[in-house]
Amino acid sequence: MAASILEERKSSIILSGAKKGVSCEKESVSGSVSQRACVFCGARVVLNPITDACHIVHGPIGCASYTWDIRGSLTSGGEAYRNSYSTDLRETDIVFGGEKKLKAAIDELMESEQKPPKLIFVYATCIVGVIGDDVEAVCRESQKKWGIRVIPVKAPGFSGTKSQGYKLACDAIMDYISPFARQPASFGINILGDYNLAGEMWIVKGYFEKIGIPVISTITGDASSESLIKAPSASLNVVQCAGSASYLAQRMEAEMGVPWLKASFYGAQDISSSIVRVADALKDAAICEKARAFTAYESERARSVIDKYKPRFEGKKAAIFVGGGFKAISLIRQFKEFGMKIVLVGTQTGKRDEYDVIESIADDGAVVLDDANPAELEQFMAEKGADILVGGVKERPLAYKLGVAFLDHNHERKHPLAGYIGIENFASEVNLSMNSPVWHHLGMHC
Ligand code: SF4
Repeated sequence: MAASILEERKSSIILSGAKKGVSCEKESVSGSVSQRACVFCGARVVLNPITDACHIVHGPIGCASYTWDIRGSLTSGGEAYRNSYSTDLRETDIVFGGEKKLKAAIDELMESEQKPPKLIFVYATCIVGVIGDDVEAVCRESQKKWGIRVIPVKAPGFSGTKSQGYKLACDAIMDYISPFARQPASFGINILGDYNLAGEMWIVKGYFEKIGIPVISTITGDASSESLIKAPSASLNVVQCAGSASYLAQRMEAEMGVPWLKASFYGAQDISSSIVRVADALKDAAICEKARAFTAYESERARSVIDKYKPRFEGKKAAIFVGGGFKAISLIRQFKEFGMKIVLVGTQTGKRDEYDVIESIADDGAVVLDDANPAELEQFMAEKGADILVGGVKERPLAYKLGVAFLDHNHERKHPLAGYIGIENFASEVNLSMNSPVWHHLGMHC
């Protein structure tokens, strides 16, 4: 391993095939400039797509602006989620406490909104964790005063990793839906961990409805305060982003008896197997038959897309650095469907079982790394000669600086990459970036 890697980071970087068990699920190393976001950000990205909820960030204004409209989650109803409210804590609030300011903020929101929300989330960020405002008491009092749900999310950025924020968001959802745990059962599924980026939830929902599986509730893409409370009645939870929603599925199974399974709607292989597994889990012969016919038809169409692009991609090298392990696994499979090699795979919040799969399916010699920093990503992309990097907004400039193509697979993107339609978008974007003539002109004007 290169000498420039920090000593404390060495166990978090391995070569696939050479050594098993990359170290993961740990707090970031100080001074390593992690690509991860903070605990509060993790909580907000999960809860924000609830379209008719209001989100008050109790903290300095920077926490709110950093996470305002952070996902490209589309809505078929409410628009309240696109606003960002903050108590804008200043020095005097830090000295004398911010509880009055929080209470006033909730009152002002309820009085000023034309259609007051039925659900408010209050996020307590770093400084509130330090000064110790009793956020729970303010939320309880406001809830009683206005007759709506006001749910505290105590998420100081320093209190753990982004995964801790996911867990806090899941606890907040449980807090909201638990009073509705006992209701008549409905036949159908909930989709968890899909945030309706560029309308992806609608695409996936359409597939299930086409084969006769009703979607009861979506958590949290295009969710509303009304649709969420139906979730406990569903027959099955289908978890797309395992990193952010597995914990919620586990709690719903233990406390409400809703079984769950993991699914992925990225890449032909994973989409088809996920739809068939969901149908099988519901044990309805007619639905199972429709699922198989539907996926066979769509796989055939996907095959023609893969065949079209494969000659242009075959043998090229892909580097992957994304938020969760489950997405990384789907991306490895997707690139392999096009005959590409995987030279680097990393995630911000991957779990042990996900890294076991990553290490078993990545090409031998691929760099597998958890919670990378920019210097490591640049170094290994250059060493391995990556032709394209898949990542998010923080990884894009790293790729372009090195003259490497880039595919945006983050939550701000505006084009769907899920579902069978996503295969065409994925291939087209990889082709446009990786085979762009611009890479032949690198260095000409330097
Ligand atoms: S690290 Fe703390 S101060 Fe910074 S955005 Fe997160 S919660 Fe706010």
